This record gives sequence, C-alpha cells and structure tokens, in this order.
Amino acid sequence: MAGLSLKHIYKEYVGKSKSKKGSSNQRFGDFMAVKDFSLEIEDGEFIVFVGPSGCGKSTTLRMIAGLEEITSGQLYIDGKLVNDVTAKDRDIAMVFQNYALYPHLNAYDNISFGLKMRKIAVEKTNENGEPVLEIDQKRVKELRSKVKNLKRTLSSATEEEKPALEEILDEAVKELDYYSLTPVQAYTYRHMTKAEIDEKVKWAADILGINDLLFVKPSEMSGGQRQRIALGRAMVRGPKVFLLDEPLSNLDAKLRTTMRSEIVKLHKKLKTTFIYVTHDQIEAMTMGTRIVVMKDGVIQQTDTPTDLFDYPENKFVAGFIGTPQMNFFDVTVSSTASRLVVKFPDGQTQSYPLSEFSRLDKEYLDGKEREVVLGVRGENIYFGDDGIEVTLSVKEVLGNTTQLFVKMDNDEKDYIICAAGRNSYEQGDLLKIKFDVSKMYFFDKETERSLLKKPTFDRG
Ligand code: ATP
Repeated sequence: MAGLSLKHIYKEYVGKSKSKKGSSNQRFGDFMAVKDFSLEIEDGEFIVFVGPSGCGKSTTLRMIAGLEEITSGQLYIDGKLVNDVTAKDRDIAMVFQNYALYPHLNAYDNISFGLKMRKIAVEKTNENGEPVLEIDQKRVKELRSKVKNLKRTLSSATEEEKPALEEILDEAVKELDYYSLTPVQAYTYRHMTKAEIDEKVKWAADILGINDLLFVKPSEMSGGQRQRIALGRAMVRGPKVFLLDEPLSNLDAKLRTTMRSEIVKLHKKLKTTFIYVTHDQIEAMTMGTRIVVMKDGVIQQTDTPTDLFDYPENKFVAGFIGTPQMNFFDVTVSSTASRLVVKFPDGQTQSYPLSEFSRLDKEYLDGKEREVVLGVRGENIYFGDDGIEVTLSVKEVLGNTTQLFVKMDNDEKDYIICAAGRNSYEQGDLLKIKFDVSKMYFFDKETERSLLKKPTFDRG
C-alpha cells in the first residue's frame, strides 16, 4: 500500500513515431501530452482519471507505472522519488483493456506466471542461525542514483521549488552516507515454492470467485471472466498500487456494470491504492473516491464525484460530468437592487431573486449588463404556466423519464429537458419552462471559469 505524490509532471513526445495507436510509421512533431500535472494521492484511495480521448490519461498512468519516461517533474511513491526507478522495481501492477493474458496458459498458470519468475528475499543467517550483516550494495547504488537525479532536478528547478528539493536532497545524502557505511541485514533470494504460489492463487481466486475457471484457457472464457483473471494476476503480486487502464471497455454494457461494482468491492477488500483510467464519466462517478478530470493534458478539476457534479469549476467539467450534458445558454445578466435579470438568446428575459445567487461573483452583480454562459441541467428544468417560451422539436420516451429537445426562436441550439414519467406534449408544441434557481450555473464567456464560488461550509 502506498500514497503517491505527483509534482509538476510534464510529458513531451519529441518528434517520435506514435507507438501506442495508429500506424507505427506515423511521425509527429514535438507534443506536450501532459502539462503541469500535480496531485497528492493518499494511501488506499480510488482515484479515477477521466477525460476525452487523447487528453493524456493513459500517458500519466504509464508514467506512474514507469513505462513512459517523465519529461520533467517528480513522482514519489511511498515518499520515495521514483522517476528513475524501473517499472519492475516500482511495486505496481497494471491491468489493461486487452487483458494481455497468455492464450496457451490456463487461468491458474496465467495468474501464477509472474510468481514463478519472481524471487523472494530471505534473511541471510550464518551456521549458528545468527543474522548476517553486510553493506546493502543495491540500496547504495539506488541512493547514489537518487542523489544524482535530485542534483540534476535541483539545477533546473525554479526558486519556488528549490527549498523543498534541497530538503529532499539533504535527506537522500544522509541516507546514502548511512547505508554506505552501515552493514545491515543481508538477504538471499529464492523462488517461491509450489505451495506458496498455490496459496496466493487460491486467495485471489476466492476473492474474485474464479475457482471454477482455474484450469480453463482464456479462449474459452467470456470477456468478464478474462478480466477477472487479469485482476487476479495483478493481485497475487501484492502491489503497492494498482493501475487500471480502461479495463472494462471491451465488455458489453451489462457486464461493465457488474464488473464496475466488483472492482469497487475488490478495492474495499484489498485496501490498496487504485488508479483507474476511463473516458466514461459514469464509470468515474460510480467508482472513484476522487476524480481527476483532464482535457488537453491539463487537470481541469480534482474532486469527489458529488462535488464535481455540484460545483464544477469550469464549463468543460460541467459539460463532461452528468448525463445528458448540461444545457448552456448564451445570455446577458444584469442586476437591480433585488433581482438578477437574465436575457436569453432570443431576447426573452427572466428575473430571479438576487438573494438566490450569493455565490455569484460580486462583479457580475454591479448592475452592468454582462455576457455570460448560463448552465442548467435537463433535470432542473420544469414546465409551468409562465417562464421562457420554447418549441418542442423532439421527444424521446425512455420509460421512467422523457427527454424533450426544445428550441428558442432565432437560436440554432437544442436544449434538453429531462421530465419525470410521461407527458402528452407533442412536436411543435409551444411550452413554457422554468429553472430550479439553486441549480443555475454561470461561466465566464472567455475563460469558461465558473462564476460561482464553491461553498466553504462542511457538507459532511
Ligand atoms: P484514450 O482514451 O484515447 O486512450 P488518453 O487520454 O489516454 O486517450 P493518451 O493515450 O495519454 O490519451 O495520449 C495523449 C496524447 O499523446 C494524444 O494526443 C496521443 O496522440 C499522444 N501520444 C500518446 N502516445 C504517444 C507517442 N508514443 N508518441 C507521440 N504522441 C503520443
């Protein structure tokens, strides 16, 4: 188990051929895939990276795994700087979308494959059974490289970053001095016994409910079963951190929902740090204890699922989280002594009690007319006898809810309303709509930042 600290991480692909997707011959210019990514992940958290395709989620995950070099910034796992630690020495297990199982091996052999290769440390003793102490050359080598890297990072660090880095360097030098001079318990390394391997495989199989599959080959399994085997293979390694890269995207919708809750249960049982990449906001909302929303290589917001939904910091997050997408109206707002007046794209106006908008930036309440974006989710729009006039263009009955697409005069956009149950409205009907005033969001037209301050009270 481990916490992670990512500090100002950047990833630049320098005119490299694209190896991950697409043609291997395709050439690209320099490209900054991840920019200034900073995040503290606590031990045992379930963090989800979410964002549209190409936003840098997998690249960040691969940097954590050690499969991709970090261009600049620092990555700490369990307080240890690991920028230059190889993937196999990071104590991390990764589960991929394509499972990466060996087709010719049954589930048992797939799960135990890594264990058979692996050596475990055993305390070295002399003929009297006393501990043998030696200088730990491996550790000394690692610490030398850590000190070297820290010095290099320090030489290009900003004045702001320097004090923290100097402190870390100081600690590393002290540690290096200590281990260079002090003999410590020596270890020998041996392969795991058949019984030890068997115990681990059975443990994982019990948790994942795959005992019946242990002697079945992947080709005879369903996608969900294969995914469980891939999880088992990661579990038996006892990693400090689990990295999961879109592990459910090859499954059908029903199985995805089942596996989603199984992974959440697995996280609760293992109590290990999970970092999960997906482009599916429903997966993110239902699985993560915290979600990192990314766009164009940049973190947009890091928050709990409910706070992301309730308090989006910008228009992108507001539009990305929630189904169907939040409606965005290009409006102008102005205020009187007690009312906020909103003018809609077709010229209709509505006024709301100013007291309802205590979180709205004061600048927007100074009486001047300002162009902003108003955001309202479909489920926070109601029909009434008065309100904004719209025309119903499309109606979709989904069973327990009905989605209605409406238009305003002289406005190309469709706005979506989610109404509970059924209704008798028909295409072409003129309707009047009202908003839940407490669920109206405002965004700056240029920067797209939210104009509502996040409440500071403890929401529990
Ligand atoms: P997806 O959901 O499609 O996997 P993602 O958010 O995980 O997307 P990344 O795979 O991290 O995105 O890619 C981020 C950006 O970096 C993309 O624009 C991608 O084309 C680019 N990229 C990824 N790998 C390479 C590479 N090896 N060389 C050059 N560019 C790359």
